[in-house]
Amino acid sequence: MTAEGLSSAPFIAPVEASVSYDGRHAFTVDVEEWFQVGAFETTLKREDWPALESRVERQTYAILALLEETGVKATFFCLGWVAERKPLLIHALHEAGHEVACHGRDHRRLFTMDRKTFERDLTVAKAQLEDAIGAPVRGYRAPSFSLTPDIWWVYDALAAAGFIYSSSLYPLKTDHYGMPAAPRQPFWPVADRSVLEVPMTVCHVFGRSLPASGGGYFRLLPYALGRWLLAKGSKQAGSPAVFYMHPWEMDPDQPFVADAPWLSRFRHYTGQRALEGKLRRLHKDFRWGRMDETIVAPVLKAEGRVL
Ligand SMILES: [Zn+2]
Repeated sequence: MTAEGLSSAPFIAPVEASVSYDGRHAFTVDVEEWFQVGAFETTLKREDWPALESRVERQTYAILALLEETGVKATFFCLGWVAERKPLLIHALHEAGHEVACHGRDHRRLFTMDRKTFERDLTVAKAQLEDAIGAPVRGYRAPSFSLTPDIWWVYDALAAAGFIYSSSLYPLKTDHYGMPAAPRQPFWPVADRSVLEVPMTVCHVFGRSLPASGGGYFRLLPYALGRWLLAKGSKQAGSPAVFYMHPWEMDPDQPFVADAPWLSRFRHYTGQRALEGKLRRLHKDFRWGRMDETIVAPVLKAEGRVL
């Protein structure tokens, strides 16, 4: 089956209809520094990164403490860049029972790399993470959801590197990313079913697809609306919701990037102080777990395979 409207008609096959999820949604965190976000890339250059204040450790430990308190296990998509500099942090996530997954080496968007460069980037990042935790890394998320239909070979590269799932697509259109024609449920993007894609959650309202996976929208919108979008989006798709956040979203005291475009600043800084309280409510209102356990394992089980 091919989704309509995709320019180069990539392979897309639905998962078994008999998948039985256990009612938990997937809570995920993209572990990167405040200066590595796509929105600031025109203002803060890669060569400036080493001179900027590292805050990822403190903020990720704050998330870890919150998860400990609310009893939630999560999936952390971490940059190799962070693992190389803060291996103990990555190890602590693994030790606390969370899943450590891969967010690439240094947040380069996929469509800026050719296949060889991507494969090298992936291999290095995976090794950096596995060195830190002493266990295999099996999940991947593209920086800024930058996986597009014309670079579908990314999935073959992921399978060759030993990944079994990806969570790299947002089935809607925004000014920065999105693939509106992508399925809203987990699907197989390669014929041999070696890699599963778990897209972000969207909610269809009045003929429009709205983001329901958290990120900036969860900070900007009132909590009740964020909760409604997530529950409704998951119900419409018939699969668990995927929520995502970043350590820098809960860090109101981070350095202010005054030179960035105002829209980027608005999205980056608004609602940071209220986020922790909203997350506590979110953890109370829904049941959460790691992506490998809540989504990937049930899909494999329906095909008679184990994780
Ligand atoms: Zn990211």
